Amino acid sequence: MQMNISRSQFLKQLGVSVAAFSVGGSLVEALGQMSPVLSTPTGVSGDLKPISVNSGPGFGNRLAITFDDGPTPGVTERVLTELKKRDLRASFFMIGRNVKNNPDLAKRVFDEGHELCNHSYTHPKLDSLSDDRVREELLTCQDAIYKATGYTPVWLRPPYGAFRNKSHIAKDLGLGIAMWSVDPRDWAQPGAQRITDTIVTQARPGSIILCHDLHMQTADAVPNILDRLLDRDYEFINMSGFLGQPYVA
Ligand SMILES: [Zn+2]
Repeated sequence: MQMNISRSQFLKQLGVSVAAFSVGGSLVEALGQMSPVLSTPTGVSGDLKPISVNSGPGFGNRLAITFDDGPTPGVTERVLTELKKRDLRASFFMIGRNVKNNPDLAKRVFDEGHELCNHSYTHPKLDSLSDDRVREELLTCQDAIYKATGYTPVWLRPPYGAFRNKSHIAKDLGLGIAMWSVDPRDWAQPGAQRITDTIVTQARPGSIILCHDLHMQTADAVPNILDRLLDRDYEFINMSGFLGQPYVA
């Protein structure tokens, strides 16, 4: 059943019934904290549990498409061009080192209205590092993105989704943890057609779709991914439009 609601109704519901669109036990618990979090005027309270999501609201017909591991010269531009042609917004979880090496490309992503997010500085398995090293990876990435764009990300995606026992560090830095619900495994380069089919078959209202602006195959797939999801009347929305800004009033 599809619900037709206005944007203001959507935002209102987001504030009062966040637990309704979550999946997984710990996530329900974490999202239950979002209402008080959203009303916290400044900073991050030590009492709040880390915010972690792998999908957005299931009402309405919205989804988020996300691109990890860029910016990658030659690939990211192609993704941007296809998004711009259709006037769509996405979220880019950037590797800080890549931002430092390609600041103009990171700035272009930002200038074209997409949300920039943290994907660590060197893409290690964060849960195998000390807390100090994790903090350094996250902060150095924040710094690289800020230097290139003037924007400070509010969402983190840990590389490989590996973040066991580290989520308190993200919370300390004011970063919500954004996992995903649709994974076409495009990093394994199964072919553009298969990437597209997997995404279109698995997409649901509320999906967070994981892609990588790292390989040409993904860029090849993007036009069809976008067009086929648009054919199904999906609205594309970035992470903070979807879920609000974690820990921010
Ligand atoms: Zn990655």
